[in-house]
Amino acid sequence: MRPEIIEVNARSYRWMHRPVVVVCVDGCEPAYLHAAVRDGVAPYLARMMETGANLLADCVVPSFTNPNNLSIVTGAPPSVHGICGNYFFDRESGEEVMMNDPKYLRAGTVLAAFADAGAAVAVVTAKDKLRKLLGHRMKGICFSSEKADQVTLAENGIEGVVDLVGMPVPSVYSAELSEFVFAAGVKLMQTRRPDLMYLSTTDYVQHKAAPGSPAANAFYAMMDRYLAQLDELGATIVLTADHGMNDKHDEQGKPNVIYLQDLLDEWYGAAKARVILPITDPYVVHHGALGSFATVYAPDDAAAAQWIERVREIPGVQAALTRDEAARRFELPPDRIGDLVVLGERSTVIGTSASRHDLSALEVPLRSHGGLSEQQVPLICNRPVKGIASGRRLRNFDALDLALNHAQ
Ligand SMILES: [Zn+2]
Repeated sequence: MRPEIIEVNARSYRWMHRPVVVVCVDGCEPAYLHAAVRDGVAPYLARMMETGANLLADCVVPSFTNPNNLSIVTGAPPSVHGICGNYFFDRESGEEVMMNDPKYLRAGTVLAAFADAGAAVAVVTAKDKLRKLLGHRMKGICFSSEKADQVTLAENGIEGVVDLVGMPVPSVYSAELSEFVFAAGVKLMQTRRPDLMYLSTTDYVQHKAAPGSPAANAFYAMMDRYLAQLDELGATIVLTADHGMNDKHDEQGKPNVIYLQDLLDEWYGAAKARVILPITDPYVVHHGALGSFATVYAPDDAAAAQWIERVREIPGVQAALTRDEAARRFELPPDRIGDLVVLGERSTVIGTSASRHDLSALEVPLRSHGGLSEQQVPLICNRPVKGIASGRRLRNFDALDLALNHAQ
């Protein structure tokens, strides 16, 4: 017999009585939705926001993709699930490593718990880097558009995805990579009707195109058509984002970068500090590995205390926090961040050394994320929601709570 309530990471979720789809639109600054609705290209989203629930929520800081996707599927902050960036410095091994291996995950997902209790669960993500984390220990369907032509029943719980979706496998740098996610979601709902589905796109478009621009509106119009189909199929839909997105350049289009490693080398000697940019991943063409969040390892506490005072004074720095301050304020795992956490203000990104960033591939002025200025994201549902306490600070990782416990 299936349970009424599923408990995961100290939160409880009611069993669904109709299919639930949670959509994480990568880099969906609320202004993208407003512009698409205003310009009349997203009639379904307009209806969803008017007749359902149209809320705003705070994402996890660092406002990056992996920490937030993992927060959404675990319903918990990084202090619980352990994933606080794409990349970190593993003090135990003394190496800088990618954090996309499930061995770094410290909590189970709500998706896996429902699957264990007998729900049919499906996950589709744009980039393959997230697939193993999102599908960790989950029985069901889990694949990426990036590697949709390589799925196997054993690894992904499904075969023949390319035929099912009827779209060729798109380039990893394209809007179509996200379209494939939605198209797959609709086909899965039509053919298999999963009880719980998680769809996660990529922010390729948002890194290049500002809200209301033709490319952005075309993307949201595409999304709108698929969401309308999911709604017609009877799903409860909650849409949120992993983070927002802002311009990070001056009026001439030149990126505003603080090269923090260069500054610390100049002030305190070469390589005394180790600056880590947790945005770093294998796909850096569209942002040059530049975001508004950095963490710094110092040789000892005295150095950290001395450096932080000076780092706070750098123009463009919004905040510099000690490890403990950052871990408390942003609910981060203290053992996976450096001695300092440094945030750039709205239009400023933080780099390591100028020589280590290849900005030649940036075709358009830099837009990026990572800081507090990208923390506000949409949290919308196609049905009205009930029982949300007034004054509650909503998070993007309340998406499943909203869908399962509050949607009418
Ligand atoms: Zn993202």
